[in-house]
Amino acid sequence: MANRRPIVAGNWKLNGSRQTSRALAVAVAEGLAEIGLGPARLGGERPPLDVLLCPPFVYLAELAELVAVSSLGLGAQDVALEEAGAFTGEVAASMLRDVGCRYVITGHSERRALFGDTDERVAGKVLAALRAGLSPILCVGETRSERDAGHTLAVVRRQLDVVLSALESEGVSASERQMISVAYEPVWAIGTGLTPTPAEAQAVHADIRATVGRRDATMAHHLRVLYGGSVKASNAKDLFAMQDIDGGLIGGAALLAGEFVSICKAAAS
Ligand code: PEP
Repeated sequence: MANRRPIVAGNWKLNGSRQTSRALAVAVAEGLAEIGLGPARLGGERPPLDVLLCPPFVYLAELAELVAVSSLGLGAQDVALEEAGAFTGEVAASMLRDVGCRYVITGHSERRALFGDTDERVAGKVLAALRAGLSPILCVGETRSERDAGHTLAVVRRQLDVVLSALESEGVSASERQMISVAYEPVWAIGTGLTPTPAEAQAVHADIRATVGRRDATMAHHLRVLYGGSVKASNAKDLFAMQDIDGGLIGGAALLAGEFVSICKAAAS
């Protein structure tokens, strides 16, 4: 990990209840405080990383109140392209901001594969998030067959390029660009227990930074590129030790407070 502030984000997906969500958030906040990654004491330093919880939409408002006194941030798992109107079932970026969200995951592979999120829709969601002052976590990554065909970098570059072109055509400012993070999530590694080796992941992360750098060197320099796909306490340290891996997007292991806190510890050290 280079000189960028790490992020560890827990994507809870479609799991839990009101009660278990509260309990998990409390357990994570307490676990972080126990290892010195809790809220800054008066005059003290803030923790050296950003830790986010991304629960289902309906629990966001309640958890926002709960995490307000902790060092935790809050993110949504998706956002509407549109700001308002006849879009039944959608949740606008401004609504997410309104309930205390600061981040939003865009283009998760499950949204791409199951809910029609094309590269263009994902780019639109990144713009919608930025317009509302939310920090997007843009997910990119190849499927198993794309990897086997040797197309990993081509797929990831294509996914990034559509977003980068949208930033250019919309004239998105340098400071707004710095709100964006990218999560490299090889689809074959999500929820499977399989991971690329740290060196394999690093190669893709370095290519992501280079791809962004061809368009915008400053953005590339500051860009936080998270790795996601079967991260656990046991493999986090080796992954986060890589130069271009700036934290993680965590699925299954984010549902276990102890495991998630250990991953945060690995990112902070
Ligand atoms: C994810 O879905 O973003 C993810 C990384 O899941 P898991 O950690 O369970 O592989």
